[in-house]
Amino acid sequence: MSGTKAKVIMLGAGHGGSDAGATANGVQEKVPNLAVVLKTEKYLEDNFTGHKIVLVRDTDKYVSLPARRDMALRVNPDLYVSFHFDYSSNSNVGGFWTFLHDGPLYGETKEYRKTIHKSIAGYMQTIDVQDRGIRRHNHHITRMIPAPTVLIEYMFISNPREAQLSMNTQVQDQLAKHTAIGIARALKLPKKEQAEKKSHWVVAAKHSEYDAAVEAMAELKRMSPSIEPFVAYERKEPSPIFLVVARELDRLDHANALKNWLRDRGFAASIIPADPGAIVEDKPKPPEPAPPPPDKPEPEPPRKKPEVIRPIGVMIGERMTDHEAWLLKGLRGNKVGSLGRLYPILKDLGIKVTGHGDYVRIHLPVDFQTLREQSEEDK
Ligand SMILES: [Zn+2]
Repeated sequence: MSGTKAKVIMLGAGHGGSDAGATANGVQEKVPNLAVVLKTEKYLEDNFTGHKIVLVRDTDKYVSLPARRDMALRVNPDLYVSFHFDYSSNSNVGGFWTFLHDGPLYGETKEYRKTIHKSIAGYMQTIDVQDRGIRRHNHHITRMIPAPTVLIEYMFISNPREAQLSMNTQVQDQLAKHTAIGIARALKLPKKEQAEKKSHWVVAAKHSEYDAAVEAMAELKRMSPSIEPFVAYERKEPSPIFLVVARELDRLDHANALKNWLRDRGFAASIIPADPGAIVEDKPKPPEPAPPPPDKPEPEPPRKKPEVIRPIGVMIGERMTDHEAWLLKGLRGNKVGSLGRLYPILKDLGIKVTGHGDYVRIHLPVDFQTLREQSEEDK
C-alpha cells in the first residue's frame, strides 16, 4: 500500500514451552492457542494487505510476560491480540469471551474489541458455543502491553465438548478466519485484490506465428521434463501475439526461480498473472482469405422482360369501356368499338387472346402502365 503506513499487528499465542496454560480433557491450552494464531496469520496474509504481522511465538516455546512487553515496546503495534482458551473447575461451564484491561485503555481498544468479538461470536453461534460477552479484567498482559490489547478466551478446555472443538482443525480454521476478519475490519485493512491471489505464468517467449510458438514449446519440453509448456494469447487483435508459457505456478518464489533458470538459458522470460481464458486450445484458423477475383466476370443473364399478363375482361358485342378503349388506343392508336374489331388488331400485335363466351382474356406482353402512359401521350 503506497501512502498509507502498514498497520502492525502483534499476535500473541498464550503460554508455550514449559508453560502449558490450562490443562484438561487431554488438551494443553498452549497447543490450540498457537494453532489458531498461525492460522490467523495465514488468513490475514492471504486475504488482506496493508499490515505487518509480528508473532510473539510461532513454535512451542516459553515467552515470559516481560519478554512480550519488551517485544511490544520494540514493535509498537497498532493492535495486540492475545490468544487463549479458558478453564473452570466446573466442567459444565463453557463459552467464549473477550477481555480488556480493567484500567486506562489505549486509543480505540474498545472499538477494536467490539469488532473482533462480533466477528468471532457470529461463528460461535453456529457451533453452539455460548457468547459470554466482554469483560474488563486486570490480566497481566492487557495491563502490560503498551498498545490497544484484546485478550480472547475462545472456549473452555475444561468443558469436554469445547476441549474437543478446540483441537478440531476445521474449528481452528474458522476461529482463525473470524478472528482475522475481525482484526481486518477493526484496522480497516484493504482486501487483497483477486489478482494478487492468482497463480503465475512464467512466460518464456512471444511469437506472432502460432507454429513458431509450438516449436518453442517443443524446445522447452526437451530442455526439462519439469516444464509444462503451453501456448496462450497475449492478444488476438488486430494480429495475434502468442505467449509460450513454460509453466503455471502458484508460488511467486517458484515462478521467479523458473524465470531466472530460463533467463540463464537465453530466454527473455517474464512472469504475468495466470489468465486461463487466454490458453490456445487448438491451432487457430488462419483468417478467412478474401474470395479470389473471378477469371472473367460472370456474364449477366439477359434480363428477361417481365411478362406482364394482365387479363382484361371484354364483353362480347358490348361497347368497350373507356378503360378498354384507351388501352386499345394505346396499342393501336385507334378507338375500337367492339371485340369484333379488336381481334384482328390483337392478332396483328401478336397478343394472345384466350377464352370464349361472355368474355376473353387478352394477355398483354407489356406492362399495363406503359400502355397507359402511351395512351396518355397520344391524347
Ligand atoms: Zn491462557
